[in-house]
Amino acid sequence: MEKETENKNNITALSANVERVFSEAYYIGRASTAKGVVASYIPELAKADPTAFGLFMLDNNGNSLCFGDFETRFSIQSICKVVILAAALKYRGFRGTFDHVMMEPSGDAFNSILKLDMRSNLPFNPMINAGAIQTVSLLADLLSFDELVSFARELCHDEGIVLDEAVYKSEFDSGDRNRAIVYLLKSKGVLMADPDKTVDLYFKMCSLSVTARSLASLGLVISNGGIDPVSGMRLIEAEHVRTVKSLMFTCGMYDFSGEFGVRVGVPAKSGVGGGLVCAAPGMGIGLYGPALDPFGNSIAAVKSMEHISEKLGLHVFDY
Ligand code: GLU
Repeated sequence: MEKETENKNNITALSANVERVFSEAYYIGRASTAKGVVASYIPELAKADPTAFGLFMLDNNGNSLCFGDFETRFSIQSICKVVILAAALKYRGFRGTFDHVMMEPSGDAFNSILKLDMRSNLPFNPMINAGAIQTVSLLADLLSFDELVSFARELCHDEGIVLDEAVYKSEFDSGDRNRAIVYLLKSKGVLMADPDKTVDLYFKMCSLSVTARSLASLGLVISNGGIDPVSGMRLIEAEHVRTVKSLMFTCGMYDFSGEFGVRVGVPAKSGVGGGLVCAAPGMGIGLYGPALDPFGNSIAAVKSMEHISEKLGLHVFDY
């Protein structure tokens, strides 16, 4: 109890301790970039600078901290799955979403189709490719890409979010596995829209350009129960935010989700572009480090978050 009060005070005042911890985390992250490898299966992603690292923290009192490459634009990749899920819940509702996709961690690679074909007709969860593609199919005939971009801009407080055409082309040209997934879903009779239209919308959503700062804003809205602390506007319904947070916590970090949950303990989602969004208690944290670990998570971002969570006592189960 004492620890919680102390943390809250630190966050409110943005104490020297909080600043020091983030500064240390930045250097820990930057030092670890050399151990990771930039994703190359989407050729355009291979052009990223493997030594880049940016960190942005925004708290619900309007305080912020920023380090390094926090304004560099990079593609959102899998983090768009959070936006897609929030949009599906908003426009289709809870049942209208989860009648079509499950909520179970898969324990398989993000782009795996094994269990989908062997054990189930519905994808395991909206944080893996099959689940996100299925969730996009719930929106494809309802919302335009531009409307989804507007929603992403609103959640991220970032009018600069646009389609990165080069990444989109690269994604489109190298996306046969995702096409296999969408056609497998169609063959099972569960896909809710045209397969080509669905997978194209998914490719476009993965190709949105964000920054560590935009991810921090997204994290803060989620952390703050769906209310944008700047405008006071509700962007995601409270019950939907709980669902989004739960799935980020259990499924957001690829096959490292369990260990990240134990070690860091905050709802998070990463992408192979090197982004990481964290919805920590009282704060949103956005990170960018394109050098990835073997799970596909930004190595620098994970190392940083381990430090931040440990030093500031952010684990959501420390009660
Ligand atoms: N566009 C990527 C894919 O579908 C996203 C992967 C990711 O970030 O996990 O393969």
